[in-house]
Amino acid sequence: MSAIRRIRLGRAPNCSSLGNVVNVLLWAQPAVAALWVAAEAWSVRRRRPEPDGGETRAIDEPPALVSTSPDNGAPHEAHVQVTRACALPCPSCHIEPEAHGAHVPLAEVAARFDGLAARGVFHVAVGGGEALSHPELGAIADAAHRAGLSIGLTTSGVGELAPTARFDQVNVSLDAVGEGFRKARGYAGAERALAAIRRLARTAARVGVNIVLDRDTFEALPETVAAAVAAGAVDVHLLRLKPVGRAVGEYAERRLTAEQAMAVWPRLVSLIERFPGVDFRVDCAMTPFLAAHGLSPQRMAAFGWTGCHGGDALVALDPAGAESACSFVSGPVDASWREGVTHGACADCAWRSLCRGGCHAVARHLTGSLMVPDPECPRVLALGAA
Ligand code: SF4
Ligand code: SF4
Repeated sequence: MSAIRRIRLGRAPNCSSLGNVVNVLLWAQPAVAALWVAAEAWSVRRRRPEPDGGETRAIDEPPALVSTSPDNGAPHEAHVQVTRACALPCPSCHIEPEAHGAHVPLAEVAARFDGLAARGVFHVAVGGGEALSHPELGAIADAAHRAGLSIGLTTSGVGELAPTARFDQVNVSLDAVGEGFRKARGYAGAERALAAIRRLARTAARVGVNIVLDRDTFEALPETVAAAVAAGAVDVHLLRLKPVGRAVGEYAERRLTAEQAMAVWPRLVSLIERFPGVDFRVDCAMTPFLAAHGLSPQRMAAFGWTGCHGGDALVALDPAGAESACSFVSGPVDASWREGVTHGACADCAWRSLCRGGCHAVARHLTGSLMVPDPECPRVLALGAA
């Protein structure tokens, strides 16, 4: 393969959206050049012809998407809710789960996977509710593989872990440790989550953690990451708190302060230096916080960086099979998602084509409008106009 235009390393877990591997942004130019050369020889799980004559390939080792085409909006990842059931009280949960909620039947999940594969999707990220409660979870992983898809899972770690051995990646929710976990998630579960990570490190293909950042968990982040890595996590995914579902009520008090948002990038850099063997990634909604530090948009694009790509690179299916642009915004997808926000502070922003106006879920909650500049973006705040 020649003329590689984009490499997207890693597989995104669930409960947010597309995960961007931050570490690659710090690579020196010779390492980047070596990656382009190595990509020519990577073995291929799946190929997708692109409309411009190019091709996108899904790679297993290392997990990656490699493309000779620029981003064209075709979906490559889907979030699929397989159950509404979860009895845990987590206040940051973006859905309203039910303790005895219904599971999506295996045959229905498999049909949805087949439909997604036919549309060119490479990866499905499965969640709920608590997906471990689904009695056919292992068979769900097998159905994804039969469809030619890779499959990831996000879990609290509360439940039967054996089926997770059939997944390509499993992430455990670990917002903090000790009392911080209880405060963030509403129950004293840090030790149980860490025990799940230890077991998954022995049995799963790859294990990571999801950390939702709020005012408290951000301050405890180094301690949380240290505990997760000691337990065996090799992938740390930082998520912006979204004002959706149960998280609406306390959003104003829990969201990152403007100072903390600006501190995300320097803290990431220090964590990458401290834990060199770990992949650090951030979700789509975090792009405005990194753009504020002047990271090269060209370099971000080369590494397949995705800000708000709800409705094109990313689609979500709820338990009823209804499709939306992302897990945090229900309702039909229209062309405005691909266009993103084009006015206000975003109009002449160098990161607009990647960022697309920040998180529309946050914007809708704070302003009542979906397609307006993210009110928490540092550039929007600095310019004083949304
Ligand atoms: S100004 Fe708009 S496009 Fe630029 S970083 Fe902020 S939200 Fe994203
Ligand atoms: S609205 Fe966009 S940025 Fe926000 S979570 Fe959804 S896809 Fe990500």
